[in-house]
Amino acid sequence: MIRHFIDRIFKRDATRGGPRAAIREKFRQYKASAQGIQLESVSEAARRTCETLHNAGHKAFIVGGGVRDLMLDLRPKDFDVATDATPDQVRALFRRSRIIGRRFQIVHVIFGRETIEVSTFRAIQDDAETDEHGRVLRDNVWGTQAEDAARRDFTINALYYDPVADLLLDYHDGVRDLKKRTLRIIGDPTQRFREDPVRMLRVARFVAKLGFTIEAKTRAPIRSLAPLISNVPSARLFDEMLKLLVSGHALACLHELRREGLHHGLLPMLDVILDQPDGERFVTVALERTDQRVLAGKPISPGFLFATLLWQPVREQWQKALAAGQPSIPALSDAIDQALDDQARQLAIQRRHIADMREIWMMQPRFERRTGRAPFALLEHLRLRAAYDFLLLRCDAGELSAEIGQWWTEFIEADGAGRADMIARAPASAAGVPRNRRRRSSRSPAGGARTEGSPDTASRD
Ligand code: ATP
Ligand code: MG
Repeated sequence: MIRHFIDRIFKRDATRGGPRAAIREKFRQYKASAQGIQLESVSEAARRTCETLHNAGHKAFIVGGGVRDLMLDLRPKDFDVATDATPDQVRALFRRSRIIGRRFQIVHVIFGRETIEVSTFRAIQDDAETDEHGRVLRDNVWGTQAEDAARRDFTINALYYDPVADLLLDYHDGVRDLKKRTLRIIGDPTQRFREDPVRMLRVARFVAKLGFTIEAKTRAPIRSLAPLISNVPSARLFDEMLKLLVSGHALACLHELRREGLHHGLLPMLDVILDQPDGERFVTVALERTDQRVLAGKPISPGFLFATLLWQPVREQWQKALAAGQPSIPALSDAIDQALDDQARQLAIQRRHIADMREIWMMQPRFERRTGRAPFALLEHLRLRAAYDFLLLRCDAGELSAEIGQWWTEFIEADGAGRADMIARAPASAAGVPRNRRRRSSRSPAGGARTEGSPDTASRD
């Protein structure tokens, strides 16, 4: 009877390609060091986590991006561990650890400044609850290692490395795909993208980051399934977009998104930027810088990043309001509200980042006033550094004259006397135009009262 039942499940999955069809119990086993994995490149914390779990009689493997990057001789961003121990069992083994997550609990094990994310093997559910497009709504049941492998996204992300035994377990020919530099989804591509449309964005990220080719079958359904992205909860989209933007290959990722037709509706300006032949200069410069910072190991502030990405709609709206005679500061504030509102419908940016963005933006017109006490007041501002970097970006992108950026660089570096002297020598236009008269001055680009920094008079090269 049971045998018959198992046969039925098997047959149904084999013929219909149900969720469990991708489960492979068999795996290839390699000596990890023979596959180019250097134990020295594994963090002490990840090793000790696996060791402790082993010593307590559990299975424990480093999984995901960490293993993939080790094999490619890249420096892993972090290490995740998968185990057959339950979160409570894991928690009990590490003094400095805590359970996080409500739906699917994972354990954060803390070693000094490093945190290892430990997750219990997860199951594939036949009867998983989905929305009307096939998106899986709940994915929170523990399972076997084979199931855990089958529910991962790509073959190269489903390798299990045991640093204690120097073993590499491969359920889905990930080693072969890594060698061929191919990104291949596990299971039926259409179904896997339907279950979780975010996987399509992950395709773009890994292809751009690793320089891999997308396997033809994996690629085939993407264009037609792309609209399902709009169905993903916006907080999830934010997480995946952030990963993409701080991957060190943001520009390449965005181009890949466009190539696959995935960019519509993610961030309003992506449509604009990516659909224009030369891209938008400001965002291009911003992303190039972000990539350089990431590759140099410097931190990235999401608030700053999203401030650059959403600046174009803010600026456009601001210009319109100025042209309609609105005073500058309230006009900017309204433009910000509108841009954030439009954005929130697609991709929810967290509130703390929004606060940073607003501050960076609202400080921009204040850089234009270079007389009296105004510049000194700006120096005291907590967000001066970010807002000033943003100003320099606008200069580099040709949106503002380079002169204003240079002036601020000098002003920030000068001592008290130097600063006073600079204010005395500030260009005649540096006082800014009285707010309620900005409209007229901005309409006469050749006029003497032209404000260097106002968006309307921006000089483009
Ligand atoms: P990175 O180095 O950029 O962090 P990563 O592969 O580690 O890349 P994560 O987002 O950290 O990516 O995810 C860790 C692992 O979890 C992945 O390697 C994959 O096995 C699995 N995973 C993550 N997101 C999904 C998803 N949407 N569907 C299936 N598996 C996923
Ligand atoms: Mg990772």
